[in-house]
Amino acid sequence: MRTPLVVANWKMHGGLAESGELAQAVRDGLKRPRGVEVAICPPFTSLTAVAAALVGSPILLGGQNCHWESRGAFTGEVSAEMLAEAGCRLVIVGHSERRQVMRETDDEINRKIGACLRAGVQPLLCVGETAEERRQGLTFTVVEGQLRAGWAGLGAAEIGRCLLAYEPIWAIGTGVNATPAQAAEVHGYLRGLVSQLSSKEVASATRILYGGSVKADNAGDLTQEPEIDGALVGGASLQAPSFVAIVRKSAARSGAKE
Ligand code: PEP
Repeated sequence: MRTPLVVANWKMHGGLAESGELAQAVRDGLKRPRGVEVAICPPFTSLTAVAAALVGSPILLGGQNCHWESRGAFTGEVSAEMLAEAGCRLVIVGHSERRQVMRETDDEINRKIGACLRAGVQPLLCVGETAEERRQGLTFTVVEGQLRAGWAGLGAAEIGRCLLAYEPIWAIGTGVNATPAQAAEVHGYLRGLVSQLSSKEVASATRILYGGSVKADNAGDLTQEPEIDGALVGGASLQAPSFVAIVRKSAARSGAKE
């Protein structure tokens, strides 16, 4: 049984005080979450404030991106080692906003994943198709290409340390989520690929999150799908009550009560 994981992606929202307060409110709202793991990925400048608010809490800290080198002349970048030292346990890699806005390539994403594994933080690889690609029937082709490229060169043991998120681009920040059936179909396809790239055992233990307009009112239906192992949440993670409700609904899948 895979424990659902719910990850808050705060994107470029929240200064020091705001981030600390939001993390504290999530912590207070969840008390000790059972049957679900929770992570918060704030902007880099807020990592220390959120880490301070989460001391003694099982809620994990995560980064939203990293560079593939551990140090060097890379102005404006932050390495996976630095994130690990700041207390991060996972790092989002290859988010569609980085692929589209920052023109991040599959090769760079692959190098970032390698850097995360070397630094001992779990890379959370995001894959997903555009609306046009879905219309053209290219969804499986696109996500397969992104997964194969992102994990290129990894052995089964390394794949076993990775997290995956299916985030259809047409669903991110639009208010239009994939239906549970649409998401489950892609998750099932991805799990088959994970099995090919590693082993059946690794694939059955790999958590594949869904992201794209997850809200308190759709989280239950989405995470009840056996193939959906939690959520990557953008907009709805910026308010403690909605994020806490999403976590509770995701925990309900495992029958856990707080
Ligand atoms: C995201 O950016 O990863 C995301 C899923 O955003 P939203 O929940 O706002 O669609």
